Amino acid sequence: MKIIDAHMHYYNKDGFVQVAANAGYENTAACWQRICEENNIAFAVAMGNTMYTSSRYGGIPPRLIDLAAPFDEENYNQPANMGYCMGVQSELINESNAEATAREFEHYIGQPHCLGIKLYPGYESVYVNDKRHWPLFELARAYHVPVVIHTGDTARPDGLLKYSHPLTVDEAAVNFPDVTFVIAHCGCPWLVDAAEVAAKNANVCIDLSGLLEGKPKLLPVLEQQAGFWRQLHTWLAYMGDYSKVMYGSDWPLVNIPLYLRMISYVIPDKQCEAVFYGNALRIFNKIGALL
Ligand SMILES: [Zn+2]
Repeated sequence: MKIIDAHMHYYNKDGFVQVAANAGYENTAACWQRICEENNIAFAVAMGNTMYTSSRYGGIPPRLIDLAAPFDEENYNQPANMGYCMGVQSELINESNAEATAREFEHYIGQPHCLGIKLYPGYESVYVNDKRHWPLFELARAYHVPVVIHTGDTARPDGLLKYSHPLTVDEAAVNFPDVTFVIAHCGCPWLVDAAEVAAKNANVCIDLSGLLEGKPKLLPVLEQQAGFWRQLHTWLAYMGDYSKVMYGSDWPLVNIPLYLRMISYVIPDKQCEAVFYGNALRIFNKIGALL
């Protein structure tokens, strides 16, 4: 089965060296390409993390990707089998620079590999539906690209969970019914809230990235976390529409073959092609032209 990884990171950051090692990897471009070959991963969507992009219009520039080389702002110089979502530095946006920020993002959005926008609430103390994000949502609507939202637990203790709770996606989804929002990490551990927001709103999808860190032994995980994985299965079934669920890894956080197995336990067999491949192709609708 061919796979699209709808949520991973491709970022040259010191902290990722240990995170990758914990999952049995090196945080390198060569390592990622080897993983793709060994696991039949046809394409990956990387979430923008860089912090050095320069401003052109007086707004806050997007966070991009750069594991093999610094991102070339004019010509896409990252892997051909990868696209990216532009990361948003929400705390730096305000009423007076929000429109200029959307222009900064618009500079990239025409690139074939620019697939969407990524918000980091929880890490950024700004709610999803905050009006400073609205020009970015209008941009997403105009260019038909999804907005991915970090939801649930934060990797750092200084994150604030009230901003990353999956229920906060509901209000933005209602205000922008023509924009597709992706609840990343299925709101973990608020799986039921994520499932309900996706069940209620036609324009809300879920990605299943980052639910099992590192490279634990499979059998103890199945035993110790049986309740968690059963709940994930239960609430996805409650939501009832597997066309809105995408496999994602959050690499380098997870061990890929292990994670593929765990997620395949949760997804009904006849839905696997859609969850591991077809849904990402439809939701990140520019991928098709890149395959
Ligand atoms: Zn992530």
